[in-house]
Amino acid sequence: MLIVMHQNATDEQIQAVRSAVEVMGLRAEPIPGGERTAIGVLDNQGYVDDSTIRELPGVREVIHVSKPYKLVSRDFHPVSTVVEVAGIKIGDGQPPVMMAGPCSIESEEQMLTAARQVKAAGGHILRGGAFKPRTGPHSFQGLGVPGLKYLRQAGDEVGLPVVTEVMRIGQLDDVCRYADILQIGARNMQNFDLLKEVGKLDHPVLLKRGMSATLEEFLAAAEYILAEGNGRVILCERGIRTFEKATRNTLDLSVVPMIRNMSHLPIIVDPSHATGKRFLVPIMARAALVAGTHGLMVEMHPEPEKALCDGAQSLTPDDFSRLMADLQQLGSCLAHLGAPQG
Ligand code: PEP
Ligand code: MN
Repeated sequence: MLIVMHQNATDEQIQAVRSAVEVMGLRAEPIPGGERTAIGVLDNQGYVDDSTIRELPGVREVIHVSKPYKLVSRDFHPVSTVVEVAGIKIGDGQPPVMMAGPCSIESEEQMLTAARQVKAAGGHILRGGAFKPRTGPHSFQGLGVPGLKYLRQAGDEVGLPVVTEVMRIGQLDDVCRYADILQIGARNMQNFDLLKEVGKLDHPVLLKRGMSATLEEFLAAAEYILAEGNGRVILCERGIRTFEKATRNTLDLSVVPMIRNMSHLPIIVDPSHATGKRFLVPIMARAALVAGTHGLMVEMHPEPEKALCDGAQSLTPDDFSRLMADLQQLGSCLAHLGAPQG
């Protein structure tokens, strides 16, 4: 439930509404907004009888929100969230943020080489997986903690913050020690215990859309993190499973404007896992920018043909440099058109 106050409501009236909500055993959360003062009501299990609240002085209207997500919705939080990581801002009004690096961290040298290449091309955040959620148990599972150290060292060496995946609660201490952003992968989007745990932390979270998750399920997963207190969530569209087999997944680009409309959280796109094919990555990256993405995550490997994971979708360092230059130009063109309507 959302209680919208009159524009000229006094602090005492707002306080009285908060107290009335708390007397009902519910949580009242003031919602920052440019033009209106609103109070979100949380912790209710079902419909709340609003008759007493409606009558209180200063209350303009009471809106019942039946969605499984509230904290992530624009209804509750009209102002767009900008997530800041080591001085880099991700969200509305900011230039698109480029996250790039290999699928897996394979060695100290591979990671350092990749980091230098990402930095040289103008990337902003370095990626690399140390704990890999592979479809089969016989595939390379990642280097684990030594990999995290290589990632951190490489990031520090070139001056880029780092993002890496955490697959279970037991890995959180290590991942938090070495990473700036915690990635929750598609396969764990509905690992609710993990979501709750990262919700208790300060680290920003990159939450990838599950491969068969609806938008509502995606936002409800993010809600778990916000509900525990961590509001620094970046959403990531990485393609969904459809009947189409020509591409690894189907990039659902319409979620970018949809999410910008439904939620205040930033949304980025991963065209690498969405397509599975190197030649498609730059094309879909451009399309994502046109659709209004706040950033991109792409896989780039110093030598994709030797990659232990996802070589076929990894850009070469040259491809990545070209993509960065292209996106720079496209960004200037888009700036003339103004911000996409969300
Ligand atoms: C990844 O980013 O390396 C990854 C495994 O992605 P996803 O969870 O989207 O499959
Ligand atoms: Mn990968």
